[in-house]
Amino acid sequence: MSTEKGPNFLEEIIAEDVNNGKHGGRVLTRFPPEPNGYLHIGHAKSICLNFGLAKKFGGTTNLRFDDTNPEKEETEYVESIKRDIQWLGFQWANEFYASDYFEQLYEYARQLIQKGLAYVDDSSAEEIAAMKGTPTESGKNSPFRDRTVEENLDLFARMRKGEFKDGEKVLRAKIDMAAANMHLRDPLMYRIKHTAHHRTGDEWCIYPMYDFAHGQSDSIERITHSICTLEFEVHRPLYEWFIEKLEIFASHQYEFARLNLNFTVMSKRRLLQLVQEKFVSGWDDPRMPTISGLRRRGFTPESIRRFAEMIGVARRENVIDFGVLEFCVREHLNAIAKRVMVVLDPVKLVITNYPEGTTENLPAENNPELEDGGGVRELPFSRELWIEREDFKLNPEKKYFRLAPGLMVRLKHAYIIKCDDYVMDDNGNITEIRCTYIPESKSGHDTSGIHVKGTIHWVNKSTAVPCEVRLYDRLFRVENPAAEEGDFKDHINPHSLEIIANAMAEPSLRNAAADDKFQFMRKGYFCLDTASTPDRLVFNRTVQLKDSWSKQKVSLE
Ligand code: ATP
Ligand code: MG
Repeated sequence: MSTEKGPNFLEEIIAEDVNNGKHGGRVLTRFPPEPNGYLHIGHAKSICLNFGLAKKFGGTTNLRFDDTNPEKEETEYVESIKRDIQWLGFQWANEFYASDYFEQLYEYARQLIQKGLAYVDDSSAEEIAAMKGTPTESGKNSPFRDRTVEENLDLFARMRKGEFKDGEKVLRAKIDMAAANMHLRDPLMYRIKHTAHHRTGDEWCIYPMYDFAHGQSDSIERITHSICTLEFEVHRPLYEWFIEKLEIFASHQYEFARLNLNFTVMSKRRLLQLVQEKFVSGWDDPRMPTISGLRRRGFTPESIRRFAEMIGVARRENVIDFGVLEFCVREHLNAIAKRVMVVLDPVKLVITNYPEGTTENLPAENNPELEDGGGVRELPFSRELWIEREDFKLNPEKKYFRLAPGLMVRLKHAYIIKCDDYVMDDNGNITEIRCTYIPESKSGHDTSGIHVKGTIHWVNKSTAVPCEVRLYDRLFRVENPAAEEGDFKDHINPHSLEIIANAMAEPSLRNAAADDKFQFMRKGYFCLDTASTPDRLVFNRTVQLKDSWSKQKVSLE
């Protein structure tokens, strides 16, 4: 995949505006989340774009919470959103809330009433919908459309005072019930909701609609480039109509194609269902496409920013393969992760010619990708080890380069061993593998002259740290769960989480810190889970070493 890209269409637009001295060459963007859920990877694209564009042109970005739906919004979401944006590496110039502008928006609405451009409608939601018409058929004027300015001002004031019940009245813009663009058919500006708001409490019982709040908020903040996803393109004429009629600062809206990712869902409404119905452990479940889920899974901010850059921005909708996201994190972790050894499915190996009661410490490079090898740690080595059960075969096929009776392998960072014998229990399970080692074959000092094709990882038994390891797969079995018939939750992958309760880790992992990234050699990239405790280490697999979806075998280096 090509990773070098020319300027995208938004960069071109902004560059031209800056060159032409529009807004004095000033660039101010905003990221406008609704605090009704946690941010997901689609939001990350929007964040990288808004903050990235502003930065590129010496501008800044506001964080504006679009909090005009009181019943769905919560402070918990506000806090999580701020945490996630900062974790991604961005800092907003100002933190604003659409609710900061409720008084100003109310005043704007009164101005439109005074200009004869807005009216109070007593019709029910059903009546309004019925009068709306269809894309091919004009709508009908409401019987309340010709109320006088005085009557409208009075009714609107009484709506605010709380004299009417929810749904009894709305304020509508008076535009054109025959407009080809349905959004211009006298759109709602305000509705009555006797619901407490997470910031304004009971101060308001009327709340502005998105279309009346968003553009005006942009304008109040003097946003120069208001960037949103393509579904808002049809709202743009309305965005411009309000600004024009109110004669306020003319922010401009630009649209780009949203991020669609396969094998997951990305609307907050659906993600909330997964949380509430306990299909996942929470918004930050490592299988969730949320930023907090990806963070807990072990993704780095760099890898997500790189992903955003790699997928680019366009005006054409497409679906990005989940593997692209995994590619980005794998590439970054390959560069930074400490190489360690953990045995996920342990079987005992005894080196019969190694002296009993002796332990030697073998030096092991932490990261061969780094120039200095990432430093060196010491690995205890003695007579009894753990190795992976799958690294031993009783009846190996040709070209099998791991352990089997009579075969030799190298133990990583240690010695070449030869398998002499094994112990099997009554059920046919191997319980012990018996080998001899070649003392002259020590890694870095090998004078044995023996060449073996396979290298396997191992953990010293007496110093091993038992731990839990969680392996993840796609959360859904189908590419586009939201598009399937029926409930999207019917398509959840029942094997998306595999818990390995008794893995054995090398002792250095006792000191693992929350932010550490590890490559468990031959097993993938891992990080400590937030549920880990010093007494019970829990690791998450972030991603496999290679794309498991294009059939592969983990190589033996
Ligand atoms: P959702 O449908 O997931 O709830 P939303 O659009 O309702 O998303 P908002 O909080 O309103 O969520 O979105 C904040 C910003 O993030 C908006 O500018 C929106 O266009 C952008 N955004 C949301 N989803 C995506 C996506 N999949 N790709 C790119 N940008 C997105
Ligand atoms: Mg929204």
